[in-house]
Amino acid sequence: MLASLTPFRSAAAGALVVLFGAVAALPAQSSGSERYLRAHVEFLAGDALAGRRSGSRDEWIAAEYAASQLRQWGIEPAGAAAGLVVPVMPSQADEAARSGADGPGAFRPVTWNAVGVLPGRHGRRAGEFVLVSAHIDHLGTRDVDGDGIFNGADDNASGAAAVLEVARRLSAARPDRSVLFVLFGGEERGGLGSRAFAEAPPVPLERIVAALNVEMIGRPDPTLPAGTVWLTGFERSTLGAALAARRLPFVADPRPHEQFFFRSDNLHLARRGVVAHTVSTFGLHADYHTPDDELDRIDFAHMEQVVDILTEAVGWLARSAFVPAWNEGGRPQP
Ligand SMILES: [Zn+2]
Repeated sequence: MLASLTPFRSAAAGALVVLFGAVAALPAQSSGSERYLRAHVEFLAGDALAGRRSGSRDEWIAAEYAASQLRQWGIEPAGAAAGLVVPVMPSQADEAARSGADGPGAFRPVTWNAVGVLPGRHGRRAGEFVLVSAHIDHLGTRDVDGDGIFNGADDNASGAAAVLEVARRLSAARPDRSVLFVLFGGEERGGLGSRAFAEAPPVPLERIVAALNVEMIGRPDPTLPAGTVWLTGFERSTLGAALAARRLPFVADPRPHEQFFFRSDNLHLARRGVVAHTVSTFGLHADYHTPDDELDRIDFAHMEQVVDILTEAVGWLARSAFVPAWNEGGRPQP
């Protein structure tokens, strides 16, 4: 999750309504995801990856890890890509971001995206895509007294783990539509990976019918009922209401003044027209962007609940013919 953003005014934000009434939690029995989620977060947020700083070799290793996980579940390279890890070169990023990059090799990528597709099985609808994403980078290390590693367990090893687990669970039965799984790099430096993806997508953006980005789901939001998740910009499109109508416990972002819709990787896609929102349960905990965002503060039972909700939502979108649309005034400016 980005720490700050340029001030803006939103016509749609004023109309936001928090929808608590219609939600219903999914069944409480374990879906078996918890151990997979723990395995991913332990690796990604472990000290060995030194905080996965955007553009660093550690971020690159995190992307390769995600790609190798996706491979074992039959997720394939997307579009014309030769592999699942796609380097983002300097011509795809701005000067400011470029100057701080320390990637390996003569071409010095500024970041890496891990991108894969689960091909749909329905002839015509296999050409339509549902996108599930999360950023995999974080802040690296800082020269501070004591622990200087920003592990980013919640931000955003939790979201990356969720995407990998949704991929594993959906791969068991190919849905009608194709599903794109993307782990973005460079989010903490302004969404470098997602911007490059949106500028040179592996499939035409108009074929991506919906995008759910996952950010900071490692702890429950104390202001929400247990077993619910919030969707940034809920009122901006028909997607949130459609999921809620399926009795999936998606509610509006309870803190619209934080402008989270504009603070994650959904934004670059939304600006180009893709109905793209971020799913989160971030409750503004004090460990945000500090070295205390650690593994031992992750609530894995909660994460499993979120992944159950996400799997249901993505699975339904990938099986259905539903095409969400922006509500009037909801699409952000390009
Ligand atoms: Zn962040």
